[in-house]
Amino acid sequence: MSAEAAVGFEPGPLIDPQARVIDYLRVSVTDRCNYGCVYCIPNDGVAQADRADVLSFEEIAALVRVFASLGVRRVRLTGGEPTVRRDLPALVRLLRAIPGLDDIALSTNGHLLPQLAAPLRAAGVDRVNISVDSLDAERFRRITRRGDLHRVLAGVEAARAAGFSSIKLNTVAIRGANDDELDRICAWAWERGVVPRFIEEMPMADGRAYVPGAHLPAAEIRGRIAAAWPGTQAVADVAHALPGAGPARYFRLAPDGHGARPRRFGIISPMTEHFCTTCNRLRLSTAGALHACLGHDDAVDLRGPLHAGGDEAVVRAIRAALGGKRPGHTFQLIGLGGPRKAMVQIGG
Ligand code: SAM
Repeated sequence: MSAEAAVGFEPGPLIDPQARVIDYLRVSVTDRCNYGCVYCIPNDGVAQADRADVLSFEEIAALVRVFASLGVRRVRLTGGEPTVRRDLPALVRLLRAIPGLDDIALSTNGHLLPQLAAPLRAAGVDRVNISVDSLDAERFRRITRRGDLHRVLAGVEAARAAGFSSIKLNTVAIRGANDDELDRICAWAWERGVVPRFIEEMPMADGRAYVPGAHLPAAEIRGRIAAAWPGTQAVADVAHALPGAGPARYFRLAPDGHGARPRRFGIISPMTEHFCTTCNRLRLSTAGALHACLGHDDAVDLRGPLHAGGDEAVVRAIRAALGGKRPGHTFQLIGLGGPRKAMVQIGG
């Protein structure tokens, strides 16, 4: 028996018990956020990691290097709000040097993009998703608790100027909060060559920030957008689908407008149109806990193994987490069935 076999070190790809191949890692670089979106952070807040437990950039890069050696090709930096982590471009440069990593993406609320879009692009971020839940400044501030829409829209413009290969808007669609402006958000995004995406709200944090009656199902999101352009319907945008690239399903309005670009939008529908069977991802928390599923609290520590046993111990821990990856989440529309942790604690 080789030494590798003796310690259970298997360098092969990451395949879970449901035969799903994992090639995508979301990395939370901080659990802090400069916004406090009402559907994300419960009124009584969430616990934050001790500063001493937060992974350093070197630790993150060392862990991502191990993931890349196991077939992970794409990494998304998230949080919390990743741009509040000091000198984020330095982390991007470390990740860019990792062999096998094809794609580095960022999820952000956009507040700091006016100053950070260009340095992040120069450091090697390929794609950026920006959360915009409303185009009405007052409403935006209410939903985000303290957000500044004008800064975020300037952040979108800075991202466009910086030349990312893709920019998407993420909007959590909530009845009574922003369901009357889904078409406006689409039009605004399309005018700028940006793809809008709508997310069904999930009952994270034990459902403490979730209002069951405010849930807006994917079918209704599609219907509302099509209704705003009479004579159109939302059809699956198969031509532009990127299989396995992520949980969003893409649609376009048909027929196309005269001479216009395709009016495409994405929907991420964890609640009413599940995509767990195609899940290809793992999530690394700010403190080095590996979550195999956003919908469950289960996690396996990677930081301890990194320090105690190096790459081989990390591989064993990753495989342990993968072995426990559930077939799917158990979210219920009434707000039960989710994890105790909030998005910001798992790595949204
Ligand atoms: N701060 C960054 C951002 O705004 O994109 C990254 C982290 S944030 C948790 C990632 C995404 O999760 C955002 O688009 C946010 O709107 C979404 N989100 C947060 N809580 C959610 C929930 N309960 N259900 C659905 N989406 C949620």
